[in-house]
Amino acid sequence: MSPTLPSYDEAARLVAAWAAQIPAPGKIERVELAAAAGRVLAAPLLADRDQPAFARSTRDGYACRAAEAAAHAWLRVAGSTRAGEAPAGPLAPGTAWEIMTGAPVPAGADAVMMLEHADIDAGDGRLRLAAARTLAAGENIVARGAQARAGDELLAPGALIGAAQIALAAACGAAALAVYAKPRVAILSTGDELVPVEAAPAPGQIRNSNAPMLAALVSAAGGEPWILPTAADTAGALDAALAEAAAADLLLITGGVSAGKFDLVEPALLKRGARFHFTGARIQPGRPVVFGEIPRPAASLVQDESRAQHQSRTQCCFGLPGNPVSSAVTFLLFAAPVLAALAGRAEAERGPRFALARLKESVKSKSGLTRFFPAACTFGAAGASAIADEMPQVTRIPWQGSGDLAAMARANCFLVVPEASDALDAGEFVRILLA
Ligand code: AMP
Ligand code: MG
Repeated sequence: MSPTLPSYDEAARLVAAWAAQIPAPGKIERVELAAAAGRVLAAPLLADRDQPAFARSTRDGYACRAAEAAAHAWLRVAGSTRAGEAPAGPLAPGTAWEIMTGAPVPAGADAVMMLEHADIDAGDGRLRLAAARTLAAGENIVARGAQARAGDELLAPGALIGAAQIALAAACGAAALAVYAKPRVAILSTGDELVPVEAAPAPGQIRNSNAPMLAALVSAAGGEPWILPTAADTAGALDAALAEAAAADLLLITGGVSAGKFDLVEPALLKRGARFHFTGARIQPGRPVVFGEIPRPAASLVQDESRAQHQSRTQCCFGLPGNPVSSAVTFLLFAAPVLAALAGRAEAERGPRFALARLKESVKSKSGLTRFFPAACTFGAAGASAIADEMPQVTRIPWQGSGDLAAMARANCFLVVPEASDALDAGEFVRILLA
């Protein structure tokens, strides 16, 4: 291992710094709410009216004056409001108003007595707060505008749209949202041994599993995957493929970045004028990972303006080692944050995402590289004990090295072994990389 390679942290900082200077995407689309999940908001979402728009009861019960109710005075029920009805009132002194959850509280009332807390006189129907209960002003009411005022910015551009954001938009009357166009991500597989998934591999050949895997990772990270034909391990094939890929916003190359005789990706990138930020990092798997940028031919900038709207003067590219687990890990660690930036996501949300878990069984490692081992984490079993379990529990999955797709397919995260550690003990808190 070369001492000149950056550590994981150093490499991650280089990537984050590069991503930080990516401008917000230029092209904006409108999508209906039903199609907005997973997209990135391109314009602020503003509250169209106060939220809630009227003082809202959070209980079934009786709107009243807290001071009268707390003194256990008898109150006459003067009327009733159900959800959907216009606000009533004003409430006369000495009276209460029957009210349902979600209904507007009548003017003059400042609290809602829960139905279950009211003593009702069977004779005249008057009620009072049960002796053991208290009631303070504001109780069981959400005041008008307590959540937001009309015109407030509820979501900023860069927010990832999920179920909660869709609900919020719906509540504000936004049936469609402005979102950033998805960045187009070229996926270039290299290797003479690769055949397409439909083909029967001849002796010595393997199916290209990285292309569909990376396409899935790209889609999940908010990009539009563009799978290019597999390039052979020759300078000419790689050069032609890189020329074709120049139209993409981001380029992912798998294979051909190790030190072997047919690992020709770095020379091919150099031939196109690439500048490298790192060629290798002190990680396993994925040590040969390459991060660089390729100058765009001036012509392609103009030509492709309508297709790839995120284009800067250079094209960001990653050379991901061909072993499937290496490709997946280096994508998550380095390519995903750049893709998130190209997709317009806010800086704090670009990942990678780490979490803490308790290690179930000890793990032996070797110091010198930050390791990312396929692992299974339980985030809380279903049933009564789920809340009582204090921490997620993680176990390493046995593997045959970074080509072991079966092991990775059984994993739901990667166990992180810090560079300085040669072992992790059972019961320790450890970091996991979320897939
Ligand atoms: P390389 O990074 O080109 O040295 O490849 C490392 C290992 O990953 C080799 O065993 C390759 O056969 C394998 N490999 C490379 N590309 C792919 C791919 N697209 N799908 C599956 N395995 C691959
Ligand atoms: Mg290869």
